[in-house]
Amino acid sequence: MELLKTKAEMRQAVAACRCDGLSVGLVPTMGYLHEGHISLVRAARAENGLVVVSIFVNPTQFGPSEDLARYPRDLERDLALCREAGADIVWNPEAAEMYAEDAATWVVVEGLTERLCGESRPTHFRGVTTVVSKLFNVVRPDRAYFGQKDAQQAFVVRRMTQDLDFGLDIVICPTVREADGLAMSSRNIFLSPEDRTQASVLRRALDAAEGMVAAGERRTATIKERVQQVLAEASLARPDYVEIVDTNRLQPTEVVEGEALLALAVFFGRTRLIDNTILRIGL
Ligand code: AMP
Repeated sequence: MELLKTKAEMRQAVAACRCDGLSVGLVPTMGYLHEGHISLVRAARAENGLVVVSIFVNPTQFGPSEDLARYPRDLERDLALCREAGADIVWNPEAAEMYAEDAATWVVVEGLTERLCGESRPTHFRGVTTVVSKLFNVVRPDRAYFGQKDAQQAFVVRRMTQDLDFGLDIVICPTVREADGLAMSSRNIFLSPEDRTQASVLRRALDAAEGMVAAGERRTATIKERVQQVLAEASLARPDYVEIVDTNRLQPTEVVEGEALLALAVFFGRTRLIDNTILRIGL
């Protein structure tokens, strides 16, 4: 496995493999890897000749009062995990390598980025779509792998890929969870022991909603009310949002028809956790 730093090295490595006829799978990450990330690397390994993992804590997707400076990092450990999962290349550029000082261009997906996390983090998604476009342009993958854990991000990136004719497949992989149902996240290390115990409430809230839909409930207001009730059982949880949106435009819907995305964001202390499930009716 190779560790590359610059765009030029990255382009050259992919070009050489393309000459050998290998397909290229890209797994974009911000590092501090866990089993959720590694599941994406394994999926990429199963479907591609060359597997590239990018590790880049992207400054443009953090708001001014967010946790960029304290975002956890451990490159040595990440490299060992990538090697073990069968990655061929880890690309770990510096921020100055990724962004020219006079950069003036953003990639913006409208509509889908306005609700859910876009409402609480207004500049977040333009940072994501801009950096993902840059990663795609340098690596030119055939497939890129994203987790359902960040469902809005995956849907936004898929829309951007279609709208801008990137000509690659976006593969969305299932959320990997801890034994008690908490979705794995690099930010879970910020939870105090008490927070960590109570954080499993997110999964219980999603379960409650899935149960209601299985029992025939379709009214989103009723489902959201129940989700809020379950979250309120955890004294340390401060919900940021609970929303049910359609899976195409990501706009709120009054009834669940076909499928809908139930997404939630909840603060424990300063740490904001997100989780989601797809509610399906009669499919
Ligand atoms: P991040 O490093 O948090 O930017 O995440 C990089 C990629 O890993 C994104 O596509 C995430 O959706 C995905 N990911 C993060 N956590 C999980 C998880 N628990 N299960 C599956 N995918 C995940």
